[in-house]
Amino acid sequence: MAFLLQKPATIAIDGPAASGKTTVGRMLADRLGYLFLDTGSMYRALTLAVLQREIDIYDEAAVSQVAEAVAISIQPTGPHTDGRFYTVLLDGVDVTWEIRSPAVDSNVSQVSKYRLVREEMVAQQRRIARDQAVVMVGRDIGTVVLPDAPLKLYITATAEERARRRLADRQAQGNPVDYEQILEDIRRRDATDSGREHSPLRPAVDAIRIDSSDRTPDEILEQILALVNA
Ligand code: C5P
Repeated sequence: MAFLLQKPATIAIDGPAASGKTTVGRMLADRLGYLFLDTGSMYRALTLAVLQREIDIYDEAAVSQVAEAVAISIQPTGPHTDGRFYTVLLDGVDVTWEIRSPAVDSNVSQVSKYRLVREEMVAQQRRIARDQAVVMVGRDIGTVVLPDAPLKLYITATAEERARRRLADRQAQGNPVDYEQILEDIRRRDATDSGREHSPLRPAVDAIRIDSSDRTPDEILEQILALVNA
């Protein structure tokens, strides 16, 4: 008897800040020829919109209104050669690098707590996954956005290792930040993301857990490809 082996068309990857999920997710999407969607960049773009309008991030109604009003879209890199993996547009303006600023880092978890904000983002993410094969990366992909995804991964690493990685990223982008400050920000974001009422960060019951602390992205990619082909 012949079996038709199919790769999972939807791959959900979750995990805390700087766990390596975005790097590995992008490599995986490239290898499989799938769309890559980093949902964190959507919450970051919304946070930037809130900060640009000088809205109080604790004002849920005002933040929710911004979420309904702005257009956020993630596009292929196009002609850019500045190291970006995708282009993020906020109301048609390229904000790919601005959403990585320390100001966005510090405020994004508060903005991401609100129910209406999450509903807006999740609806958009589901629309994207409906039409194409996708590797989607975030905090609530396996639990809320795509609970039926046939392959779910939860990638973690120690807070110290994640802070070292984030420091290297920020230095490569020319942002002067110190290690202790980044570690504190990561711990604070972990606590807010895991402790929030709506869609808290946690592994789906059927997610496969991967600790990336002492491993290279290539090693993790090979492990995931073995799961994809299993
Ligand atoms: O992944 P990244 O660190 O860029 O995400 C930024 C923030 O966006 C997270 O700390 C979290 O507060 C929020 N987020 C979320 N749900 C997702 C992706 C990101 O709440 N699916």
